[in-house]
Amino acid sequence: MIDLRSDTLTMPDQEMLVTILSAKLGDDGRVDGSGKGEDATVNELEDMAAQLTGKEAGLLTPTGTFGNTLAILSMIDPGDSILVEERQHILITEKILFDEKYGHLKPIKYKLNETMTPDIESIDKLLYESNAKLICIENTHNYEGGYFIPVEEMKRIRMVADHHEAKIFMDGARVFHAAAGLKVAVKDITQYVDSVMFCISKGLGAPVGSLVCGSKEMIKRARELRKLFGGGMRQAGIIAAPGIYALKNNLERLYEDIENAKYVFNKLNGKLTKIHMQKEVQTNILNLYLTNTKVIALEFCKKAAEKGLLIGPVSNDSVRLVFHKGIDQSAAEEAAEIILTLDKMI
Ligand SMILES: *Cc1c(COP(=O)(O)O)cnc(C)c1O
Repeated sequence: MIDLRSDTLTMPDQEMLVTILSAKLGDDGRVDGSGKGEDATVNELEDMAAQLTGKEAGLLTPTGTFGNTLAILSMIDPGDSILVEERQHILITEKILFDEKYGHLKPIKYKLNETMTPDIESIDKLLYESNAKLICIENTHNYEGGYFIPVEEMKRIRMVADHHEAKIFMDGARVFHAAAGLKVAVKDITQYVDSVMFCISKGLGAPVGSLVCGSKEMIKRARELRKLFGGGMRQAGIIAAPGIYALKNNLERLYEDIENAKYVFNKLNGKLTKIHMQKEVQTNILNLYLTNTKVIALEFCKKAAEKGLLIGPVSNDSVRLVFHKGIDQSAAEEAAEIILTLDKMI
């Protein structure tokens, strides 16, 4: 089976796992005057994350969803309106911040433009029309085929935000893929946002965890909220150690995932008769659109599984292929062959 359902499927390898055995552990839930916990390994990972993103401080969370939630809640006042793009993960999948019973935030939705980056004119207009003081962006874009936001665009979003005295939060679950795709350092991208969340549990290959980075003051608030929500973990160095290993060893290999995604795109380009693909592959995700076929996404995934390829739906008429550490070029080639066969069958 070739499993392209998600890059969360990556398994920790032996070398990564042995780092747990020698990790210095402590009670991360006991916070000292400086705002840090007592687990040296967690502290090391949080400092590393802060340094890579060019921020003052970092905070380890068990999931990206929790990281996004804590980050945004520590940047707003209860009941605020915030700008969010209509296909963002926080809006479509996580929902909690906008839930009438729980988060109470009001989403003001903006769109992506043709280049799949946030439409700056509409962000500007919405900020004039509302009293929103936070812009949420996603980089790379999970549901829209892994498109990144180029550094120049990041700068333009920052200028609009500054003009309106608004802050920027970036859901950067895959910001390391964005950096690899753009061939820049992560901090070249994150310098334009106030806060960022990224996942170590996806393409970076660690088993558990995400990090939120931002100013000392903001991270202090997020840490307090994490405790209130029951997210204070004790000897969490056990999950931080693989994260440190991932940040030291698995950044370079993200290029392989991007190459494999591009390889499949190029193999299929011009040969598909019914299935459509996104315009271009920029990182490790490739979306296929079934609009001109007679099958719905779930049915297509079932047929793919029968041929040995596991993929998942993104909507009723689109599916995605996500490339990761468990997929080499020959698996990518086989995946492309299966898609070509399916294109003739449906
Ligand atoms: C995966 C993902 C998240 C959430 O991460 P979890 O660890 O699954 O909670 C958030 N945002 C984006 C864009 C993602 O792809």
